[in-house]
Amino acid sequence: MTTVITVPPKDLPVTEPLDMLVVAPHPDDAELGMGGTIAKMLSLGWRVGVLDLTSGEPTPHGSESLRRTETDRASNILGLSWRGNAGLPNRKLQHTLESRELIASYFRVLRPRWLFAPYWQDAHPDHLAATELIEAARFWSKLSKTDMPGERFHPGRVFYYYCIHLRLAVAPNWIVDISDFWDIKRASIEAYQSQFIAGRDPQPPTLMDEFRVEAANWGRLIHRKYGEPFATKEPLALESLAGIL
Ligand SMILES: [Zn+2]
Repeated sequence: MTTVITVPPKDLPVTEPLDMLVVAPHPDDAELGMGGTIAKMLSLGWRVGVLDLTSGEPTPHGSESLRRTETDRASNILGLSWRGNAGLPNRKLQHTLESRELIASYFRVLRPRWLFAPYWQDAHPDHLAATELIEAARFWSKLSKTDMPGERFHPGRVFYYYCIHLRLAVAPNWIVDISDFWDIKRASIEAYQSQFIAGRDPQPPTLMDEFRVEAANWGRLIHRKYGEPFATKEPLALESLAGIL
């Protein structure tokens, strides 16, 4: 069972380093942006965690406790290795020195090899603040002579997933084939009943139908059934060409 951990990073038990840490402004952004890839990498034995920055509340049909229950459910559907919530303020998320130190502290304790942040262009101010905060915290996590918990540590890469509140046609740098993991992604999104199902028109096309069409469109671009797009600012380093479909 994966339950959302809300203790501050200084009180987190030291565990094996994570292979990937997906940092999300709100609970559900990780699932929407890269739930299929998360499930796929977990199936390959990777240690994948999600750090939600805020509770995501208030929303029209949600509450703090309901969102927590939904997040637990989604985490278990994905089979996450770790999930935490940093407790930063929803709707007012900002990149401050305090929030930078807090998120850098998570990185030092969790020691993720790779970070995943929201794509850097967005209409939602929380998403923009999250991206800036994650990049700055990544830099700070390697500082020495600080009061931050854990050892100095630098996540090797930061990549960007698409959870964009803008109707943009952003060309991705790569697309992951999630055809065999769409059902898990769909179920993990549906776990957030208060966000995607409650109070919405049940007549097709529903919001869930739209998510499926979107995944199918990314899949179409790589001749697969379903896909998820990613971006990188630095060139992607490959061991060889063997992983390219
Ligand atoms: Zn969001």
